[in-house]
Amino acid sequence: MSPVTQTAFSKLSELCEKVVSTTKRLEKMALVGELLTKLPLEEVEAAALLIIGQPFPRASHRVLSLSWSGLFNVLKELYKPSTDEISSLFRESGDLGEVVRRLYQKTGRVAQTTLFTSPLTIIEVFQTFTAIADALGTGSRRKKIAFLRSLFMRATPLEAKYLTKILLGDQRIGFSEGMLEGTIARIFKLSLPLVQRANMLTGDIGKVTRIAREEGEIGLQKVRLRSFTPLLPMLAAQAKDVSEALLHHNGESAFEMKLDGARVQIHLKRNGQPKIKVYSRRLSDVTTSLPDVVTLILEEVTEPSCILEGEVIAVGVDSRPLPFQHLMRRFRRVRDVERLVKEIPVSLFLFDLLMLNEEVLIDHPYTERRQRLSTVCGSIPLVPQIITTDFQEAEAFFASTIQKGHEGLIAKRTDSLYKPGIRGKAWLKIKESLETLDLVIIAAEYGTGRRHRWLSDYHLGAWNPETAEFMMLGKTFKGLTDAEFEEITTRLLEIQVGKRRNVVFVQPKIVVEVEYDEIQRSVRYPSGKALRFARIKQIRYDKSPEEADTIQRVNEIFEAQFIRKASTNVVGRTPPT
Ligand code: AMP
Repeated sequence: MSPVTQTAFSKLSELCEKVVSTTKRLEKMALVGELLTKLPLEEVEAAALLIIGQPFPRASHRVLSLSWSGLFNVLKELYKPSTDEISSLFRESGDLGEVVRRLYQKTGRVAQTTLFTSPLTIIEVFQTFTAIADALGTGSRRKKIAFLRSLFMRATPLEAKYLTKILLGDQRIGFSEGMLEGTIARIFKLSLPLVQRANMLTGDIGKVTRIAREEGEIGLQKVRLRSFTPLLPMLAAQAKDVSEALLHHNGESAFEMKLDGARVQIHLKRNGQPKIKVYSRRLSDVTTSLPDVVTLILEEVTEPSCILEGEVIAVGVDSRPLPFQHLMRRFRRVRDVERLVKEIPVSLFLFDLLMLNEEVLIDHPYTERRQRLSTVCGSIPLVPQIITTDFQEAEAFFASTIQKGHEGLIAKRTDSLYKPGIRGKAWLKIKESLETLDLVIIAAEYGTGRRHRWLSDYHLGAWNPETAEFMMLGKTFKGLTDAEFEEITTRLLEIQVGKRRNVVFVQPKIVVEVEYDEIQRSVRYPSGKALRFARIKQIRYDKSPEEADTIQRVNEIFEAQFIRKASTNVVGRTPPT
C-alpha cells in the first residue's frame, strides 16, 4: 500500500479529539469501534495501539528513549516559542500536546505537504516511532531528532498535538486498554474474556484487534502461550505488613522472600540442539549477558521444554549479595561478558513455572505450579518460602528475611493463577520501610493533568555543612492531599526566587518528612546519592531548615543499608535460609 492510499493520521487525531470530548463510555467505544471496522486491515494494528497511546505493543522490547527536552529542540526550531510562552500555555491546559497545538497555530505555519509530500499517514507515524526506537548507538540522538523533525514538519496542529502526547506517553483521552478490549468484543461480537486472554498472552492489543477482525473467535482461540514469545510478568501490589496480606488472602498466604535482584523469564526447548533464551522483566533478550545462568539451566533442567521464572542476584567475594546496581552492570553487557561473569558472579533462585512440556500452567493454582517447579529445577534453589495462616510465624519470617539483608516478602495467594502483566492483590509485596529523612524543598514543578495548577513535584535536598548548601537527593510528587497541594503551592510561590521552564526555584524553607525504599548511589546529583521511590509522609511546617537531615546522615543510612545487605550469606546454589 503506498502512502497515497493509506489512511491519514489526521483521521486518528480527529477521532482522539472526539473521544476526549465525551464522557460517555459507550459513545467513546462506538467512535473507536467505527474506525477500527472501517480502516484497511493492514492499518488496524497500528491504529489500535496509537489510539491508546502505545507507540509499540506492551510486550515489545522497544523504547523511544525520548525526553521533553529532545522534542523541545525540534519544536523550538519549528515554532520558535519563548520559555515564558510555554510555561503560561502549560499552566492553562496542563497538557503538553495542547501546548504544542496552540504554539503551532500561533505561528500561522502550514504543514509542509506538497504534491510530493502527501499528508502523514497512520502507518508512517507508526513506522517512524519504530525507527526512532531503533536508532541506537553513536549519533542516535541526531537520528532521533531527524525522525521527529520529519514527522512534525508534515503535521497539522492537531496531528502535532497527538504526536506529542503519544511520544511523551501522555495520551490521556479517557480511553484505556481495558476499554479497547471491550470495544473489540462488542464490535466483532466476541466474548470479553476471550479477548482479554489473547491480549494477556500476546501482550499486543494491536495484533489482537487484527486477529479479532480477520479471524474472529477461531483466530483468538488459536492464540496461545508459545516458547520464545516472552510473557509479561505478573506484578505485586503493596501491603503494609504481613497481617494486611493475610487479610487479603482469606487468612492464608505463601510468603516468599523478596530477593533484591533482577527478574528473569527463561524459555527452554530441547529439540535436538537445546535452545534457551533469558528475558528481562522488560522482556529484553539478555541471554548473551548471562552465560552462567544458561549453563546452569542446561545442566540442571532436563525437561524437554519449559518456561521458568526467577530472580538473579549478584554475589560478591565470600558469596555475599551485592547491591542491585552491581547486577545491572551484568545485565547491560554484551561485550567482555566473560570477565564480568568472573567479576560479578550471580545466583539464580526460581519461583514460578509457567509452561511445562507444552502444558500451559498459568491457569493452574500457585501451589501446584510451585510443587511442579520443585520437581523440574534439579539443584537450582527455589526462593525460600513458608505457607502459613499464623501471623506470628509470618512476622518471624519477615524479620529473619530482613535480618539476612533481603528486601522483604512477597505474599502470594495459594490458589492464585498467574496473571501476566497484572498488578493485583493476589501477590502483595511487603517491604521494610527505612527510617524517614527530613528534607528541604529546594524547587518545585507544576504537575500535569488534574495537578497542573499546583506545584506538585518537589526537588528534595539535604544540608551539606561543608559546602553550606542543600544538595538534591531526588524528586517526588507522592504523598500529599489536594488541600495540602493547594496550601504548599501558595507558600512556595511566596518564597519563589526564580524560574526556569516548568521549575520554580524557592528559598529552602519548607521541611518535609520523606519515606523512600532505598538510598542509591547516583551520578545524576552532585550529592552522589539518590532516593529510590521517595514519597512525602508529612509536611513539617513545625521544623526549620536547620533541623533538616544532613548529607552525612544520608551517607550513614546508605552505609548501614549496605552492611545489612552484605551481612547476608547467600552461597552459590544454596538457598538463603
Ligand atoms: P517491585 O520491583 O518492588 O515492584 O517488586 C517486584 C519484583 O520483585 C519482581 O519483578 C521481581 O523481580 C522481584 N522479586 C523478588 N523476589 C520475588 C519473588 N519471590 N516472587 C516474585 N517476584 C520477586
